[in-house]
Amino acid sequence: MKTVNARAVFGKDKKFKTTTIERRDVGAKDVLIDIKFAGICHSDIHTAREEWGDIEYPLVPGHEIAGVVSEVGTEVTKYKIGDHVGVGCMVNSCGECENCVKGEEQYCLKGMVGTYAGVDQYGNGEKTQGGYSTHIVVTENFVLKLPDSIELDEAAPLLCAGITTYSPLRHWEAGPGKHVAIVGLGGLGHMAVKIAHAMGAEVTVLSQTMDKEEDGKMFGADHYYATKDDATFDKLAGSFDLIINTVSANVELDSFLKLLRVNGTMVNVGAPPEPMSVGVFNLLTNRRSFAGSMIGGIKQTQEMLDFCAEHRLGATIEVISADDIDDAYERVVHSDVRYRFVIDVATMA
Ligand code: NAP
Ligand code: ZN
Repeated sequence: MKTVNARAVFGKDKKFKTTTIERRDVGAKDVLIDIKFAGICHSDIHTAREEWGDIEYPLVPGHEIAGVVSEVGTEVTKYKIGDHVGVGCMVNSCGECENCVKGEEQYCLKGMVGTYAGVDQYGNGEKTQGGYSTHIVVTENFVLKLPDSIELDEAAPLLCAGITTYSPLRHWEAGPGKHVAIVGLGGLGHMAVKIAHAMGAEVTVLSQTMDKEEDGKMFGADHYYATKDDATFDKLAGSFDLIINTVSANVELDSFLKLLRVNGTMVNVGAPPEPMSVGVFNLLTNRRSFAGSMIGGIKQTQEMLDFCAEHRLGATIEVISADDIDDAYERVVHSDVRYRFVIDVATMA
């Protein structure tokens, strides 16, 4: 066992505190990673504040992990000391079910193991703790190779924000000739714009206001509209083949569904705790679909990282000290993120 520095919350209304956690000994198939940067995802906030359900505290969040390999187990074949690597939202799965075999471990029939707030039922049964810490030990099959051409701090958010948007964009075939709208220009949204643009789609941002128009267009958006302006919904009625909704709160789905053309799909990746409802006639009209998508499998995550390297896409980030996590959470909740906070783990030493 190795005792390492971390930042944890000890209750839903509590602030982050400096603490230590135990990491397991490096097993035969394990990789020990010196974490350099950890992104702050809105899911960390939903979890830490018990918005999705009860949590066993203390909780160390963080599932956008970028670092350097510092030790490998005797049977590890994919990684060596010094490699730049990442870990995303999962650290294990059964490896045998239909979905794992297909490389969709996020839909493991027996349940994937979350990077934090989970229990590694396929390993030694330990409670998982995430990336707001100096080191992590992960079985090599859940470690990703980070391209050397992307700086570690800009690569960290790809492990969740990148794959969560890349996966539905690929599944619903964003590309040339496709009109794609991205709702919400936060951590996920800004990566969705960059990736959809790189795939060749015509990209529209639907943000609450016009405040971030210049940034959205710099990320690759062709058009930018404010959802606070009702005229937006009249103007864009029946326009899109695909809408990716990244909003962390409930939105009025019917207003967005009306923006889909024939056979269009609206994919919710945003994960607000409360249910949302749909007027069925907005689905019947134009044979529209309403769908969801959760992160992406390990194979596709590697594909996304290679795609981002090829297109020189990293996240647009604000690097913070570990002492500023609470402030960063408040800014994320108030849609004041430009466009992902990334913790410099050196500040935890
Ligand atoms: P984020 O950085 O906070 O971005 C969300 C954006 O949504 C905000 O920047 C804001 O954009 C917009 N927004 C926020 N509140 C709103 C409201 N009340 N009404 C309308 N728009 C609002 O969050 P994130 O890290 O990108 O995560 C977004 C959501 O995806 C979270 O719910 C998270 O848990 C979920 N998530 C899901 C998966 C998955 O596998 N499906 C993976 C990761 C995250 P504008 O200022 O541009 O309007
Ligand atoms: Zn996330």
